[in-house]
Amino acid sequence: MDAKKSLISRYLYESPYVKDIQKFKEDIIHKRVIPHQVEVQPGPLGKNICWLNCPYCYGKSAINSTERLSIERYIEVLKNITDGGCKKFIFAGWATDPLYYKHIDDLVQTVVERDSVIGFNTRAIDVSDRLVELVSTPSLAKTSYMSISVNAGNNENYNKVNAARGKAKLYDRVLKNVTSIVTHKKKNNASLDISVSYLINQYTNSKEEIIKFITDFKNAGADLIRFSCPQIPRGDVPGENPFIPTQIEYQDYINELTQIIESFSDESCKVIVVKSDDKFIQARTTPCFARFIYPTIGYDGWLYHCSQSSGSNFRSQALGNLATDNFWDLLYDYDANNLDNYFSSCSKKMENNNCRCDRKEHTVNSLIKDNGFFNK
Ligand code: SF4
Ligand code: SF4
Repeated sequence: MDAKKSLISRYLYESPYVKDIQKFKEDIIHKRVIPHQVEVQPGPLGKNICWLNCPYCYGKSAINSTERLSIERYIEVLKNITDGGCKKFIFAGWATDPLYYKHIDDLVQTVVERDSVIGFNTRAIDVSDRLVELVSTPSLAKTSYMSISVNAGNNENYNKVNAARGKAKLYDRVLKNVTSIVTHKKKNNASLDISVSYLINQYTNSKEEIIKFITDFKNAGADLIRFSCPQIPRGDVPGENPFIPTQIEYQDYINELTQIIESFSDESCKVIVVKSDDKFIQARTTPCFARFIYPTIGYDGWLYHCSQSSGSNFRSQALGNLATDNFWDLLYDYDANNLDNYFSSCSKKMENNNCRCDRKEHTVNSLIKDNGFFNK
């Protein structure tokens, strides 16, 4: 598969996270499963744990706790994970942005030095010179990526749809940061894919704005531009949040816009629209296998099943506290002789905590479930 096709298929979650389900099952039973990736969601201390207040934020129901890993402990944890064989780290946030964390460069350096694949899901509002250098490292592991969520085509609408505090020209700033990263990665021939994304809703569906956004970020050197629908955040009622279109509304938008959007796609920059699907409505797919595939370190330093259940609200289903315990001990802390019970007790906790899968999590859990993994 060529590089661009592979990039698109990763963003559409068509690339399997678990290639051999029988082996995956055996590895769980024998406690030797190595996660495909670990998601790292560091957060600052304080009342505001993100630089924005997006009304469609997945993590807007997050309970802020004052627990955090010290930077020394965080580095130790990441080294321990790479020593155990996991070499892919995604820096992201459930209620925070990874680049809002003041020690992010130290964390990234730790894993880049250990030849890990890195990924970012970020707003890229502030990107330090050191981080630009790190993500442009000539020997950066292949398939590393930076995915930048923008969701508007000008400063005014950016601040409105992302509920930015103040009047800073954030759209311009993000565009400048993307341009700078692309310039450095090209200079170093670094293997970093840059994608930008745009959520379509009633405030962001103007053709003029969409065309300006595509033109700006194609000129900046993005490899992929992706349009999709915001998913329903945990705790929201479908149809009641004006920033989240209903499935029918989204279908109307993409019927009207897909042709024009995709007409900008070419070999240097693919421009795609993610179709609407039933996963919009369903809260979660269980049994859940996320903890074996992409466990997540929440902003409070606890280890959680996945990126969408990674805050103090989900403490009752957390795998444990990385401030005091070893990652691998927590990962393998389950009764392998009674997996049915284990998965069913997790499912109950997930239901009680009302966690909400994202597209990737629905897709991966469904795939494993449909393969009969859990059938006795
Ligand atoms: S930037 Fe991300 S984490 Fe922060 S409020 Fe917006 S959606 Fe939530
Ligand atoms: S949100 Fe989905 S993937 Fe995450 S713990 Fe809940 S069921 Fe599992």
